Amino acid sequence: MSTTADTVEKKGYDVEEIRAQFPILKELVHGKPLVYFDNAATSQKPRRVIKAESAFYATINANVHRGVHTLSTKATEAQEAARETIRKHINAKHAHEVLFTSGTTASLNLAAFSLGQLLLKPGDEVLISGMEHHANIVPWQLACERHGAKLKVIPVTDSGELALGASDHLIDQLSDRTRILAISHVSNTLGTINPIKELIAEARKRGIITAVDGAQAIAHLNVDVQDLGCDLCAFSGHKAYGPTGTGVLYGREELLERMPPWQGGGEMIDVVTFAKTTYAKLPFKFEAGTPHIAGIIGLGEAFRWMEDYDKAAMAAHEHTLLEHATTELLTIDGLRIIGTAKEKVGVISFVIDGIHHYDLGTLLDQQGIAVRTGHHCTQPLMERFGVSGTTRASFASFNTVEEIDSMLAATKKAAKMLR
Ligand SMILES: *Cc1c(COP(=O)(O)O)cnc(C)c1O
Repeated sequence: MSTTADTVEKKGYDVEEIRAQFPILKELVHGKPLVYFDNAATSQKPRRVIKAESAFYATINANVHRGVHTLSTKATEAQEAARETIRKHINAKHAHEVLFTSGTTASLNLAAFSLGQLLLKPGDEVLISGMEHHANIVPWQLACERHGAKLKVIPVTDSGELALGASDHLIDQLSDRTRILAISHVSNTLGTINPIKELIAEARKRGIITAVDGAQAIAHLNVDVQDLGCDLCAFSGHKAYGPTGTGVLYGREELLERMPPWQGGGEMIDVVTFAKTTYAKLPFKFEAGTPHIAGIIGLGEAFRWMEDYDKAAMAAHEHTLLEHATTELLTIDGLRIIGTAKEKVGVISFVIDGIHHYDLGTLLDQQGIAVRTGHHCTQPLMERFGVSGTTRASFASFNTVEEIDSMLAATKKAAKMLR
């Protein structure tokens, strides 16, 4: 399974063929066919992923890296095969640069804790942006508090893009004291695709360490960590067709070697005495305790599933959905889209004058349509746009234009009822 993927032919894009692989799409909600537009919160899982996870428990369940017995060896091999699949997918140089975590939140907490220890001194600065998820704000805030550093923020424009400076100083907020740039590839609330390759290049020129929140990018864009040039990149399995409770922190080998461990325990040690402990090699230095083995195996399967398709074709399909939804939603009286960046993934946040997002979400649910309502874990961004929350529809490879038309009809009906 290792080196042939480049030459393997990708499947053509057939949305019905894709839909048939997602058992949940046959469910009814309030007697209506499920229309699942909450993929930015968590995506649905293809049968292959569900099977891989349960097959682990049914046939090879054992702990990894611990036993010499047959099942333990099989479990270890299956977990390490998942690591290699993910390495290839994100084009990391080494498999040991792929650290397994419980999700983006854990990955970013690891990054912030460890980089804080390694780099931050009083008066230093950490730079984030105004469109970050709380998971890419709070861990850095905590690190800044621990080390007497300051959190700085790149502002967001009215269209939901980063407010960048002129080309000779792309990022106005960088200073001699900036040590870390932590930035999302794609905004979960606005759908904005940030120009992170340029931002990373600018930061690296100044010796600043870069951490990417890739939670919303991994299932929708080609993420090539070497091409991006980032030091760290975090993402969750469950937003990329994989199981909940799984995630990855990619890190450049040289940096991971220098970073101190985050959590201590079994698996991450070399030699323990009460006087001193030495740590295991990468990646195990950062993987204390028994991992979510079944989940990791499911995660590997999710990435193999994505590899079967041309990601550009998936992205093009999702873009068609986005354009159709954008055009049609704007025909609704008093509706405003929050986030109108030029470069977007299939995420659309909107508000309707005089209608609370919670009421709209409830009425859509009664029609079988699942959307997210609220602040989407981006309270500072809500404040920036002067709204308490939005209704958000977020698309995946298995969604259809017809489903968007159902949402539009249901939204129009709900708007009439609520006004
Ligand atoms: C969902 C999300 C997170 C947090 O991911 P978890 O899976 O909840 O840990 C962080 N950042 C972004 C942009 C997200 O969309």
